Amino acid sequence: MAIPRDLVAIDIHTHPQTEEFLDAMGARRAQMEKHFGRKREVVSFQAQADAYRERRMMAAILNSDAETTSGLRAAPNDLLGRAQAEHPDVFLAFAGIDPWKGQAAVNEIRRCKEEYGIVGVGELNPARQKFLPNDRRFFPIWDTCAELGLVVMFHSGFPGAGAGTPAGGGYSLEHGRPVPYIDDVAAAFPELRIISAHPGWPWHLENLAMVWHKSNVYLDLSGWAPKYLPPEVVRYADTLISDRVLFGSDWPVLTVERWMAEFAELPLKDTSRRKILRDNAIRLFGLEETA
Ligand SMILES: [Zn+2]
Repeated sequence: MAIPRDLVAIDIHTHPQTEEFLDAMGARRAQMEKHFGRKREVVSFQAQADAYRERRMMAAILNSDAETTSGLRAAPNDLLGRAQAEHPDVFLAFAGIDPWKGQAAVNEIRRCKEEYGIVGVGELNPARQKFLPNDRRFFPIWDTCAELGLVVMFHSGFPGAGAGTPAGGGYSLEHGRPVPYIDDVAAAFPELRIISAHPGWPWHLENLAMVWHKSNVYLDLSGWAPKYLPPEVVRYADTLISDRVLFGSDWPVLTVERWMAEFAELPLKDTSRRKILRDNAIRLFGLEETA
């Protein structure tokens, strides 16, 4: 895959907002709107692609399948595959899978890779999908991703899902811990490239340790307003792990404009800034720069 000229950034973390994706949220849509204080409006893939093209950015488009635990049908991965085919200069498609579906999840990953050339799997959300990534029952899934060269993205830290409701929607915060749940997967599959999504508060220090320790793990800075990033995250992103930190907005939770404006104010070296915004993602996905 080639990247467009003068690429400014790759937003590694966006959630499509077409009708199908909003419908698939069920009651979570209203809960998330309340928690984040923003109404979800329908945005077509065409409109999302246009907005990113305008900014000279690419964007990863994510999906999630939590049918086993929520009873809700996920939006079909074909929608993301087709969006990537229609806008190859903008979109990087990830497939959503339900780890509890076992072999069917493995088959879906293979199908999406074959039919659409997806680049990754995720965002998996251990809290919302009620699973622990280091449970050996799920290892065939990670093994398949490693074999196919797909990047796997796990949500880390505080989950927006269920936040502010009685019992937090029944989700356990524990599932969001990077160590040992993501760390064990990274240890078992050296060829598997993993993105630990979000700074991971209140376990951001675990994320930093894991990314520093295991070179197959990347950290995305999405879902957290840059001006509120814990100082350790900013310091490590500028130094020890600057080759493995990625820009992500978590749109529509945060707008790209706000993220970029606040990121510009952080005390980072220009070299780190460029790595975080584009170069690390270019390398992670093996994208080619056009002359
Ligand atoms: Zn997330």
